[in-house]
Amino acid sequence: MPNAFVYYFGAGHADGGRADKALLGGKGANLAEMTRIGIPVPPGFTISTEACRAFLREKKHPKALRGEVEAAVRRLEKDTGKKLGGTEHPLLVSVRSGGAVSMPGMMDTILNLGLNDTTVEALARASGEPRFAYDSYRRFIQMYSDVVLGVPQKDFEALLEGRKIIRDVEADTALEWEDLKALVVEYKILVARETGQKFPENPTDQLWGAIEAVFRSWNTDRAVAYRRLNNIPDDLGTAVSVVSMVYGNMGGDSGTGVAFTRNPSTGEKKIFGEFLINAQGEDVVAGIRTPLLIREMERALPTAYKELLQVQATLERHYREMQDIEFTVEKGRLYLLQTRIGKRAAAAAVKVAVDMVDEALITREEAVLRVDPQQLEQLLHRRLDPAAETVVLSTGLPASPGAASGQVVFSPDVAHERNAKGDAVILIRSETSPDDFHGMVAARAIVTSRGGMTSHAAVVARGMGKCCVVGAHDLEVDESRGIAIAHGRVIREGDWVTVDGTTGRILLGKVATVEPELSDQFHILMGWADAARTMKVRTNADTPADAQKAREFGAEGIGLCRTEHMFFEGDRIISMREMILAVTEQERRAALAKLLPMQRADFKGIFKAMDGLPVTIRLLDPPLHEFLPRSEEDSRHLAQILHIDEAQILHAVERHRENNPMLGLRGCRLGITYPEITQMQAQAIFEAALEAMQEGIDVQVEVMIPLVGNVKEFSRQEEVIRDMAERVLGSDTKLPYLVGTMIELPRAALTARAIAEEAEFFSFGTNDLTQTTLGISRDDAGTFLPYYIENGILPDDPFQVLDREGVGRLIEIATREGRSARPRLKIGVCGEHGGDPRSVEFFQNIGLDYVSCSPFRVPVARLAAAHAALRTKPKSSPSDSEGIRPLTPAVAGD
Ligand code: PEP
Ligand code: MG
Repeated sequence: MPNAFVYYFGAGHADGGRADKALLGGKGANLAEMTRIGIPVPPGFTISTEACRAFLREKKHPKALRGEVEAAVRRLEKDTGKKLGGTEHPLLVSVRSGGAVSMPGMMDTILNLGLNDTTVEALARASGEPRFAYDSYRRFIQMYSDVVLGVPQKDFEALLEGRKIIRDVEADTALEWEDLKALVVEYKILVARETGQKFPENPTDQLWGAIEAVFRSWNTDRAVAYRRLNNIPDDLGTAVSVVSMVYGNMGGDSGTGVAFTRNPSTGEKKIFGEFLINAQGEDVVAGIRTPLLIREMERALPTAYKELLQVQATLERHYREMQDIEFTVEKGRLYLLQTRIGKRAAAAAVKVAVDMVDEALITREEAVLRVDPQQLEQLLHRRLDPAAETVVLSTGLPASPGAASGQVVFSPDVAHERNAKGDAVILIRSETSPDDFHGMVAARAIVTSRGGMTSHAAVVARGMGKCCVVGAHDLEVDESRGIAIAHGRVIREGDWVTVDGTTGRILLGKVATVEPELSDQFHILMGWADAARTMKVRTNADTPADAQKAREFGAEGIGLCRTEHMFFEGDRIISMREMILAVTEQERRAALAKLLPMQRADFKGIFKAMDGLPVTIRLLDPPLHEFLPRSEEDSRHLAQILHIDEAQILHAVERHRENNPMLGLRGCRLGITYPEITQMQAQAIFEAALEAMQEGIDVQVEVMIPLVGNVKEFSRQEEVIRDMAERVLGSDTKLPYLVGTMIELPRAALTARAIAEEAEFFSFGTNDLTQTTLGISRDDAGTFLPYYIENGILPDDPFQVLDREGVGRLIEIATREGRSARPRLKIGVCGEHGGDPRSVEFFQNIGLDYVSCSPFRVPVARLAAAHAALRTKPKSSPSDSEGIRPLTPAVAGD
């Protein structure tokens, strides 16, 4: 009868295998699998997660467990020719925890379990090295006492230090075996004093103590917190692997190492790793001795090296995936201790995936699924030279990736001036506003001490593909004094810093960066991704240059052109302010007339860049006060330029002040209140389209009305737009254009049927929809959102990863209702979530037509859309049988 809880592996046989990850943990499943396929693995057994669950539930071991463990130990004794507690050839084991999902906070490995005052002598005799035996023994007592008996490591370290002082030596290795033997006595006295009990001498007692400690470690505070944070269910439990010890520290013909089957940075198909002669596994990781490159093993341990090359190739072929392995050579014999999927940098991920298709190991679809979309962004921006040394000044949220060095400035005007002189500047502000736009354009990177991932700085920077860190709370910014303080260090204007937007770090000085290079393999992989996906990917772009960049990255149109950004640049803001300050409609129209040619030129540039692809242009959205001067100085300056009284400006600022501007006079409410704004914008759009068409450009315009909550709002604005289209285009011109709306208010989502009767397309503005559904301000969330996420109140930042239960539900309702009124209604997403892989999956699942995101996220979204399509593709069709094999079998340990 098969065992209920214990899975044995050894002598070429294994219960279970790689498919049993849930039961045996990643480690246990792969030890079994390796044994099965003839890889040399020291024999052992794995106690299943089922036993752990039963133990935690019942507060005692399940009945059958004791007998099964005893039987497995007997079998292990037979296979190794050693005996637990034996005086001649003692069996020593390692005990490790390992769940289906890797989890820090769980119990570490205990090595050399089975040592006691008798077996240590036998080990000394068998190895001929008493020092090795006693060193193993004292380490075992220390480790076991720490994790099983709760006596802190530092107490043992103090005794070790004391012994070194007595002997007047610096290094542990200078202690003789007699010293280590004496230390063992001291260690045991310490344990007895601290626990009131003797250190367990009986190896069977030791083993049960360790098993129980592993089970209990499932519920340590750290493990529980980690599960909360990563959405790992509490009821998975951990497995326990008990493996017979092999030693890499048995002399010059022994050693231990770690290796990847391919280079994890570049993907080159060549074993990559390091090893140490005459050492234990922990010595490699601890960094006390400098390991040798794996190549050198060829000279030092030629036979074992040859075998290692074969084994790693077998593992790769078997798992059809790059592996990360741990091995030990004991007196010339190679043993594998672990294998798991190797983590790799983005460039390596792409190369390995494409190479493996060439090697006929995996299919194209699998290759696409092997590359993490989120990781792809690393490849698209300038990045820090990985070899550079760095000093971190401050850390915030990685709002927009890339890396840039420059001299610190605290004012957008200074940024503008210095950039004009050719200086590289980094703009540091407590937060940014539309007023700072010219400074943001001028800066190489932007840093704010406040704000979240969808704050003004973050959205604008991402749109520009500019490196940006926001919410660096450990940075005190004092713009008026022109300084920032980070952990007591003062940063002044002119100081050099480097901003790493990929990790959120602000570094001291000028750190070297390297250009991104898109490999041929990158383009090949993206081609496969495009073939696999069904959802289109567009971009959010406001300028012809961004549109062009996005097109190079594979954008299939513009999903959102925020026209307000066109008003911030250079002198345009003056005309915009003139328009806002206008008292009569006539004055307003005069100011708008100055803006018209500028908008028209921008639109034409964008139509040209997007020749043949759809361009969604959104009408003016933000509240007017955002365009008005913020400081008295600025007001004075404006009064001078416009030859008006400063009081008039202050009055206008006062008039436009709102308590909740995000819920105030913005979006379509602006165009409804001042229809001449919409008229001007529509005129610019259609005139630009006409001019572009006359130059042979294939123009596909989609005019989008923002912040609609009520179908009547839509109809009013639509009428203005269509009237203008008719006026500009006349009846002969054939310009197919659509008028649609953003769905970014809950009411719009809930009344989508009525809106779709009128609107020709929907685009979910998930930034505002998140803000209004959750009632969390996009700009003020920084004060409490990090706490919410850290403490598991919210699983993720809802402005980055779509809140499926709330916002997602509204999107589903609106999609269903919208299509019930207009079955072919085109529906997309243009909020930040359009570039987030997990959100993209949701959009695919509910059948949206496209997502739109900032230019640098376009490849990420293309790959994410391919992943989503492949994961939801029905698996029944015969042609798929090779295609989308689930990845789980290839997932190695943790
Ligand atoms: C949105 O709200 O999701 C959106 C795209 O518009 P904005 O971010 O400009 O408000
Ligand atoms: Mg919006």
